[in-house]
Amino acid sequence: MYLYQHEFLPKDELRISSDDRGYYFGDGIYEVFRVYNGMLFEPAGHYERLERSARDVRISLPYSIDRLDGLLRQLIELNKLSEGIVYMQITRGAAERTHAFPKQAEPILTAYCSELARPLQALEHGIAAVTADDIRWLRCDLKTLNLLPNVMAKQAALDQGAQDVIFHRSGTVTECSSSNIMIVKDGELRTHPANHLILHGITRAVVLRLAAELHIPAKEEAFTLDDLNNADEVFLSSTTMEITPIVSIDRKPVGSGAPGPVTRKLQSAFEHLIGSGNDG
Ligand code: PLP
Repeated sequence: MYLYQHEFLPKDELRISSDDRGYYFGDGIYEVFRVYNGMLFEPAGHYERLERSARDVRISLPYSIDRLDGLLRQLIELNKLSEGIVYMQITRGAAERTHAFPKQAEPILTAYCSELARPLQALEHGIAAVTADDIRWLRCDLKTLNLLPNVMAKQAALDQGAQDVIFHRSGTVTECSSSNIMIVKDGELRTHPANHLILHGITRAVVLRLAAELHIPAKEEAFTLDDLNNADEVFLSSTTMEITPIVSIDRKPVGSGAPGPVTRKLQSAFEHLIGSGNDG
């Protein structure tokens, strides 16, 4: 079942307008929530980010957060989802194609659940990444539907035999195509500050919280490609990939070429967190 506008419907009964501004302009915002044991993971962080994206692109949310939360929980129940994701997008509405905001259109919400197993292989063995120019706009903190640069970069990485891309702006590392990136050097964690150049990842915030609990020093400070290449450990963080080690970059091994001890410590704290139920 999907949630579309104000109804729960089977997928083949959705009637989506070809005038939806999501199609014409990518004029919308979205969130991807993790579901563990039938429960939304870190929902408060997602709702806060959704409200910020909505405010900054001037789309009004069709529901209060409380109501939305109730609907998403109902969606999970209706689909009997235990482990997976909830995808939710809100576009500015359907109207004849013109750049200016339409006067009449109402925002359109679409949400669905899908089963998704944890990425156990990647978590255990890590992935290979390649670096690429970050050619995106200057509001990467907004979770909008405009993902073409991310899509292009991800495919280019796959075409080179890697699993993901690490973006940099003139040598300053920002994030990956759909995840944040952290490095470890001499026991210290480092990640790009949460400003307009990266998405403020929910998992990133969880990792920083866990690092504090584990007394792992962490700095939210930009780092360069040189720092990346000299790091002892590198990992990415995201809702679907959790804390995934990056074990090679541009075909060169990171550190020993295997996931390192700080990454392992954070992974195990994360496992503990998701096993313990987190429905705040
Ligand atoms: N950066 C980008 C560009 C993303 O698309 C995502 C997630 O989709 C992230 C970072 C990680 O964010 P989160 O941890 O909230 O999934």
